[in-house]
Amino acid sequence: MCLRKEILKDLQPYGARLVAVSKTKPIAQIREMYEEGQRIFGENRVQELVDKRPQLPSNIEWHLIGHLQRNKVKYIADFVQMIHSVDSIALAREINKQAQKHDRVISILLQVRIAREETKFGIPAHDLDRFLEELLQLNLTHLSIEGLMGMATFTDDEEQIRKEFTELKNGFDRVKASFFPDHDHFREISMGMSGDYKIALEEGSTLVRIGSLIFGAR
Ligand SMILES: *Cc1c(COP(=O)(O)O)cnc(C)c1O
Repeated sequence: MCLRKEILKDLQPYGARLVAVSKTKPIAQIREMYEEGQRIFGENRVQELVDKRPQLPSNIEWHLIGHLQRNKVKYIADFVQMIHSVDSIALAREINKQAQKHDRVISILLQVRIAREETKFGIPAHDLDRFLEELLQLNLTHLSIEGLMGMATFTDDEEQIRKEFTELKNGFDRVKASFFPDHDHFREISMGMSGDYKIALEEGSTLVRIGSLIFGAR
């Protein structure tokens, strides 16, 4: 059985969805997975996404999962379905502005810094409430704020990974209760990659972002 199908079986009891991370992979391999029924694909670079999209079926749901520079939002705003990596107010405003130009609403997730590793990206977990207060005050009507995204530390220490995913889930529950109590759209927790998606599912993931396990090593 192909690995994608095995992963879909793992996701099913949790009602979670698979983002097939196709970065660095050729069009033919992406099309093959599309033909098996996969519809959500994730890329982490704007240029690669923009190059690939016209070569593939138009009903693919493209997710931008990697760090996004403000000046590149305009290249993807007319088609991108979800941006997982929003970690600044300035970026959120730019996505809103570009979405408005195309008369669209773009789904976003707020990337939260949960890893122990030093990284520039992501909103520190203790800043999340303040960030949301500021974001919601802006009333950006071309954004749909749908949840949180996080990446665990790159380590073999499963308990560490679990702890970080639990932190993201707790952050999600807290934010949902304070800011989106009656808001059905705030429902996604994007966590889990090839090496840690099973732990992520146990800790409440709704979107797993898996590349190498289904497409082969990069
Ligand atoms: C590459 C990437 C993934 C997928 O990683 P794999 O280990 O290949 O499954 C998930 N999320 C982000 C943000 C990535 O850049």
